[in-house]
Amino acid sequence: MQREIYEHMLLNSSNVNSGNFDVISAADLGTLFQVTDELFFGGVITRFVEANFNKPLTFRLSTRMTTAGGTTTMTSPGPRRDTEFEIAIATTPLFGTFQIESQAKVGGVVCHTRLEALQRIMEHEVIHLVELLATDDSNCQAKRFRNWVGSYFGHRESNHQLLTPRDIARKQMGIRCGDAVTFRIKGDRYLGTVNRITKRATVLVKDPAGTPYTDGERYAKFYVPLKMLKRA
Ligand SMILES: [Zn+2]
Repeated sequence: MQREIYEHMLLNSSNVNSGNFDVISAADLGTLFQVTDELFFGGVITRFVEANFNKPLTFRLSTRMTTAGGTTTMTSPGPRRDTEFEIAIATTPLFGTFQIESQAKVGGVVCHTRLEALQRIMEHEVIHLVELLATDDSNCQAKRFRNWVGSYFGHRESNHQLLTPRDIARKQMGIRCGDAVTFRIKGDRYLGTVNRITKRATVLVKDPAGTPYTDGERYAKFYVPLKMLKRA
């Protein structure tokens, strides 16, 4: 069934036209959810949401999540019928990983393409959603979740080994937190220390007019795209 869903996506999405697609939309996530619901649960999840809640499920691509593969959230603004459910999938690890790797584990299952990895992430989120619908609570480290995700989708773990920007900075450029780096802005060259890596690196540069830090020095903080950094 997982293979059938894979083929369905390739045939029916105008964006996802190869296993390592370059473009994806939130509508593609909706399609992936629907086929997964149809094949594995006979469409009961979608029908349950329609029957019990005023708002349909929503799907979102997140460019800001850099470590989680996805999230499922439940927002309850008031009466139960007004509860909203959203599944968000992180694009950064999905796209970054398969630029430099040919495989990565998601849910303990080896994935060879972006689409396979996306399916495993969606499957994980589907179980979160089912738990939230059934009990208002969900925990992917707990036994019940692991039993369900294992028996429906064959996942053996509740994590992924997709590469985060931090992994990619280390693998591709040899840069990690704490490293001395240089970068240029408008012709000026700066020397600083990498403090944090998300989509961009946070680099602290010694500056007498900067903010005092616990090491007794003052620093100015720069957010620098990773590819602008050079090891000092
Ligand atoms: Zn989880």
